[in-house]
Amino acid sequence: MTTAADTADPTLIQRLQAALGADLVLVGQATTPYCSDWHGDVQTGAVAVLRPRNTEQVSACLRTAKALGLGVVPQGGRTGLVLGAVPDTPDRQVVLSLERMNRIRRIDPDDFSAEIEAGVVLQALKDALAEQDLFFPLALGAQGSCQIGGNLSTNAGGVNVLRYGMTRDLVLGLEVVLPDGRVLDMRSRLRKDNRGIDLKQLFIGAEGTLGIITAATLKLCPLPEQTATALLALDCLEDAITLFQLARRQCCDLMSAFEFLPPLAFTLAREAMPDLTPPMPMDSPAYVLMDLSGSGLVDISALMERFLELALAEGLVRDGVIAKSQAQARALWIIREGMNEGQARRGRHLRTDLSVPLSCLPDFVAQAEAAVTQALPGAICVSYGHVGDGNVHLNVLPAPGTDADTQIEMAKKLIHQVLARFDGSISAEHGIGRLKRGDFQQGLPDTQRDLLQAIKRAIDPDQMMNPNCLQELDQRVAK
Ligand SMILES: Cc1cc2nc3c(=O)[nH]c(=O)nc-3n(C[C@H](O)[C@H](O)[C@H](O)COP(=O)(O)OP(=O)(O)OC[C@H]3O[C@@H](n4cnc5c(N)ncnc54)[C@H](O)[C@@H]3O)c2cc1C
Repeated sequence: MTTAADTADPTLIQRLQAALGADLVLVGQATTPYCSDWHGDVQTGAVAVLRPRNTEQVSACLRTAKALGLGVVPQGGRTGLVLGAVPDTPDRQVVLSLERMNRIRRIDPDDFSAEIEAGVVLQALKDALAEQDLFFPLALGAQGSCQIGGNLSTNAGGVNVLRYGMTRDLVLGLEVVLPDGRVLDMRSRLRKDNRGIDLKQLFIGAEGTLGIITAATLKLCPLPEQTATALLALDCLEDAITLFQLARRQCCDLMSAFEFLPPLAFTLAREAMPDLTPPMPMDSPAYVLMDLSGSGLVDISALMERFLELALAEGLVRDGVIAKSQAQARALWIIREGMNEGQARRGRHLRTDLSVPLSCLPDFVAQAEAAVTQALPGAICVSYGHVGDGNVHLNVLPAPGTDADTQIEMAKKLIHQVLARFDGSISAEHGIGRLKRGDFQQGLPDTQRDLLQAIKRAIDPDQMMNPNCLQELDQRVAK
């Protein structure tokens, strides 16, 4: 295993420290945690980890990296699942961590907006806003660790997308430091501003390849005062999609989450959390976890009860529980969150993040799972996720006693073949990173590739921002 300390060039470190001061430059073994991801699948190294405290220091870091010819890997909470924040060339890259830029600069209840620095942890923002009866709707399993800068750079999705949209839909303005150190100040509180091309959109979802996001102005909502959570047992994924469509029409756009879980969900969650007790018999072919939420004059509990009566009458639901307290609702959501950790504990496996048109989801999953189980006997498909958005994580646990890497590659190829028939996406919400770059490049039409390369060349001509992540400049036309 290569560690940061093994590979760093002492001259480069001295020059970084001389330019930026020792406080900003972390070196040696202290850099090790910054060179791995949430899964711990990969451990690499870096020349140093730069930890600026403000926008001016980010600017200085980028100017120094440029002068030294170093690649810069921007880093938030390291929960990205595609290796976008993990350096891959230890002797030529520095990590730039935003963890010390964690100030909430301003909360404006009257405008329903807040300006915050990129290193603010998502859960910390939610907690601070709740004190003022405000709410930032982005919600995902990693919210205790991921940072707003990472959320913006990956255009994160999560469980509330079906009601509030992706991170991109929740942004009013951005502050970005460009690779040459200039600050692009686009912090705005305006809800409507149609003065030409909206440049901030370039940096949302760019995975740190065009600059460093240092702060953002975010759209806020009133804190939902009432939430009703239900776990429902169903006969199949087709019924889950029909149920979702019914809920869209019957629940006045107050549905905020609709997650599909397979029968294995509870078993996997309990492998990670042995004390978990089943909220109902967990032997049905399919489950849905749904939230309705709202505030003010609406009665959310009554709406949930009436909706479930309707769903039972239509024969879409065979059994279910409605949480009677916040603690019970939390206990239901823990099953969904524990599934991820349970899969991680089963060892190396294929993780996917796919999307197809909503109406095609049941056919896609059936065909893809059949292709995998026929070709790889004993492998287990675990399909789940934010299906209300047509998003499914069709993960594959390799058959016991087989070579995991070979099984993962084969399963991925088979699933992608089926996905192509449905015009689907290989990345619904996690991004491309270093993990999916090959597959992304392969499927990219020429016109799209040319435009992406032109943007990269215009903003980052030295290709110093997050090298080898997301895209690779065509060397024939690169400078
Ligand atoms: C248990 C679990 C559940 C998850 N659930 C979801 C989910 O439901 N939906 C979803 O979309 N994702 C999910 N994820 C993935 C992950 O949490 C998101 O991608 C998240 O947005 C990453 O944020 P981060 O701060 O950890 O970023 P990192 O992993 O540190 O970085 C991600 C990318 O952004 C770049 N970057 C980070 N900060 C900046 C910055 N300030 N400026 C420029 N570039 C930057 C990095 O270089 C990298 O390319 C989950 C992950 C885990 C572990």
